[in-house]
Amino acid sequence: MKEIKIGVLPGDYIGPEITKEALKVLNALEKKYDWQFDIVHLEASGEAYDKYGVHLPEETLRKAAECAALLKGPFGGPPEELNHPKWSGVEQGAILPLRKHFNLFTNLRESKVFDSLIHLSPIKKEVVAGIDILIVRELTSGIYFGEKGERTVDGEREYFDVEAYKESEIERIAIKSFEYAQQRRNKVTLVAKSNVLKSSVLWREVVNKVAKDYPGVTLDYMHVDNAAMQLILNPGQFDVILTSNMFGDILSDEASVLLGSIGLLPSASLGESKFGLYEPIHGSAPSIAGQNIANPISSILCIALLLRFSLDKPEQADEVEAAVARALAEGYRTKDLYQEAQDDASKLVGTVEMGDII
Ligand code: ATP
Ligand code: MG
Repeated sequence: MKEIKIGVLPGDYIGPEITKEALKVLNALEKKYDWQFDIVHLEASGEAYDKYGVHLPEETLRKAAECAALLKGPFGGPPEELNHPKWSGVEQGAILPLRKHFNLFTNLRESKVFDSLIHLSPIKKEVVAGIDILIVRELTSGIYFGEKGERTVDGEREYFDVEAYKESEIERIAIKSFEYAQQRRNKVTLVAKSNVLKSSVLWREVVNKVAKDYPGVTLDYMHVDNAAMQLILNPGQFDVILTSNMFGDILSDEASVLLGSIGLLPSASLGESKFGLYEPIHGSAPSIAGQNIANPISSILCIALLLRFSLDKPEQADEVEAAVARALAEGYRTKDLYQEAQDDASKLVGTVEMGDII
């Protein structure tokens, strides 16, 4: 097999620690299946700022474009240094341009509950058992990218942000969500607010039309306020949730709570091609950096998504997920997953040990 280029942007604080463990897993697969990866280190965020004074050098984008996929650690600094230019420009200077540059309009967040961690969920055991939800969030349009402005109305200031969607922007992500549903449990729930928002009316229209091409997939509709409630009350009813940029942002954080630790959750950002950007959903957690206590599972599960969506290796993706589930079932816990009172049979391990075990 020909060499596959994987670009790695290790990120800040716990970023490099957890990314290293994910690469360990990739390495193990490379040996086992006799694959050949070319791991390309790409400078971005704090690392690039220190060296070049910018968060996303041209060189990084150029080299990234030659890769089959990118593995990214979280970017960002500690809250008390948020106004420092090294950290204040990260979102606008690196994260958003990276998504925009590669036209990564689909964001996937999977919330899959691990049987052995059900006791960590704040939701009742019977309700969360077996939960496996895929949120398909539109990532490059909507209110985060719409017109913003300020004006004076009746003598007072008014600021505004516009939620606007084109038919084509809805159609392309709707197609993706139906395709994913076909590989899962054949159900798509469109979440919007069509009783109030004009743009949501278009979402319903376009998604209904796309649904006709997928007769094997059931399409449901839910208003976002109800969906927020249903995610907690009856999460088992969801397979694929298709939604806009802002609603997806909010609902995916909510869905992550079902699992019990943010350190378990990976995400994928994809465009029209197989190329994808894979990153944990959490931040760089400065307060726990450098202590070998961060949970590397979010980053390791990024490898599973990368194998599934960019490299067409679904079996090995399952294998990585099974290895994670097995390490947890055998009782290995990083600090965020460890509860002394409830886990007498469990073993507290560090970041590096968890990577080794998986
Ligand atoms: P951002 O704005 O970049 O999303 P944030 O302020 O939401 O950052 P995070 O860095 O995501 O904060 O951290 C939130 C909490 O979760 C912190 O208490 C952090 O220590 C914890 N946390 C985040 N990631 C992990 C991880 N991989 N392992 C263990 N704990 C984590
Ligand atoms: Mg956050």
